[in-house]
Amino acid sequence: MQFRDLKKQYQVLKSEIDSSLLDAVASGAYIMGKPVKELETALAEYVGVKHCVSCANGTDALTLALKVWDIKAGDAVFVPDFTFFATAEVVSLEGATPVFVDVDADTFNINPVSLEKAIQQTISEGKLTPKVIITVDLFGLPANYPAVCQIADKYNLLILEDGAQGFGGSINGKKACSFGDISTTSFFPAKPLGCYGDGGAVFTDNDEWAKVLDSLRVHGKGSFKYDNVRIGVNSRLDTLQAAILIPKFNAFKEYELDKINEAASLYDAKLKGVVKTPVIPEGYYSSWAQYTITLKSKEKRDGLQAYLKDNEIPTMVYYPKALHEQTAYKSLNYPEGSSPVTEVLSESVLSLPIHPYITEEEINKVVDCIVEFLSK
Ligand SMILES: *Cc1c(COP(=O)(O)O)cnc(C)c1O
Repeated sequence: MQFRDLKKQYQVLKSEIDSSLLDAVASGAYIMGKPVKELETALAEYVGVKHCVSCANGTDALTLALKVWDIKAGDAVFVPDFTFFATAEVVSLEGATPVFVDVDADTFNINPVSLEKAIQQTISEGKLTPKVIITVDLFGLPANYPAVCQIADKYNLLILEDGAQGFGGSINGKKACSFGDISTTSFFPAKPLGCYGDGGAVFTDNDEWAKVLDSLRVHGKGSFKYDNVRIGVNSRLDTLQAAILIPKFNAFKEYELDKINEAASLYDAKLKGVVKTPVIPEGYYSSWAQYTITLKSKEKRDGLQAYLKDNEIPTMVYYPKALHEQTAYKSLNYPEGSSPVTEVLSESVLSLPIHPYITEEEINKVVDCIVEFLSK
């Protein structure tokens, strides 16, 4: 059994992917070739925003957004404590300071009450200037935007939506990657919409910011490539990756997103009353980057993971450490207990195999093993 079966997906989509890829190879236009613009247009339309600016990966996408807003030393950027390292890393790389915020135990996403407390505390300490809230659509579920947007308005902060795991999700029909003032995603192979290498994209409705993003990703270009008006980076989406993404995006829209939601519903039904399953609030739709259960203790979680491994069922722990517990952030001096929910989650969550091509037999096998282990 595969945790996320990318080989199976390729087998199903092989003819479309191969022909798109070989067309791109034959075209001779390898940098910013035709598929790049075609993909950007299709993604912007799907998400429902004016501009999609693709780039080299999801981490660069976040960096480009922070650069557009000139985020720098002395600025505070509020980041959920329970996420992939990159969400905070980009803040530090710009010289600004990430302020870690605890998450909600049910949705795993940033907790609005903790967020407002962190903002007020930062203001009263007076050392940093609050600028941005980075929301993460963790495991495919959009963050609590109704509450976060209110807070952003109240304190005049920008929202950067890290939709690396969230692409395809929605709230009452409004799509992920449209909730931030700027939003980003990643096409890392295992993400909801993945390519066969690295890739990413930035989304915004703001014309001016879109222009700056387009400039920043190619060495701060001005009217042409050898006219450089600002310090930028080299962060283009590879043409071959765009060519791979076009047929993959069609499959994603046409049936993969439905299929993975069917798989999640099967898990929900079969695991009901057995373990704590993911909570999807009313009106929310997840793209299921992960299907993550919560056990009662670290002992149970680690025991279950070992038992599933013995039965050839791969699982992952996302994430085994809070960001504030990372060695790289020791110097920020967060005491133990500063994010109680995140700290408990890091010891008790377990992500199960899920992807659009998983079979009901495979899901049954996973569920049977979980039931067996927990009844021992
Ligand atoms: C994967 C991921 C990123 C980084 O994306 P890359 O394309 O690997 O650079 C950022 N944030 C979150 C939440 C992610 O899951």
